[in-house]
Amino acid sequence: MKTPNTIFKLLALMALSMLAGCASPRCMAPAPTAPPPRTQAEQAALTPAQALAELRAGNARFVAGTPLGRNLPAEVHATAKGQYPIAVVLSCLDSRQPVEMVFDQGIGDLFSARVAGNVLNDDILGSMEFACKVSGAKLIAVIGHSNCGAIKGAVDDVNLGNLTGLLAKIKPAIDAVPAEVQPRTSKNYDFVDQVSAANVRLVEQQIRERSPVLRDMLDQGQIVLVGGMYDLETGKVQFFDK
Ligand SMILES: [Zn+2]
Repeated sequence: MKTPNTIFKLLALMALSMLAGCASPRCMAPAPTAPPPRTQAEQAALTPAQALAELRAGNARFVAGTPLGRNLPAEVHATAKGQYPIAVVLSCLDSRQPVEMVFDQGIGDLFSARVAGNVLNDDILGSMEFACKVSGAKLIAVIGHSNCGAIKGAVDDVNLGNLTGLLAKIKPAIDAVPAEVQPRTSKNYDFVDQVSAANVRLVEQQIRERSPVLRDMLDQGQIVLVGGMYDLETGKVQFFDK
């Protein structure tokens, strides 16, 4: 049988544990909740610059460890009848670069194309045309990352099944890095990251050259095309030039 003294001790313990649980900043200031998924009108009103600002802000929240609170089942339900994403992102297959998490976006916010070395092909180009021309996305982002295994594979001239053809698409980026950057091996992380960045720029160029549909939208300012690099050490995306 519990004596009044025991009950008092139990209550005191509960109060202490509640206080301890609320000592973290997250408990004291709960994360703001993400707004509901965008409507078609909200997507149409968004400018390409605002879409880029949203990706920057989302990545800053990701880096800071303060992502928006989300009810993912509610987002699934809300987007079941239609999608109005703000951007299409081409990034690497790498498991450490999950696009929606890196940009703190929810269900229906991003079109995501992922392939080793974030290389371009006709199907991905067609997908980008669908994302922008048909589905209203305002931004194309090509995001490489540091210490990329596909880039290292291209540098090392790896030959392996279908991977050989994929790595061949990266080879021109190796030549695009100035000759004075030495040694030109996969052990030189600075060189590898410079090849990754050059690869992103070449893919940006290819998108412009190979898609009259997207080039026309870019020229008219309906969309923007940005490149960037994701840092595996920090989680930060550094956009080029913008
Ligand atoms: Zn990679």
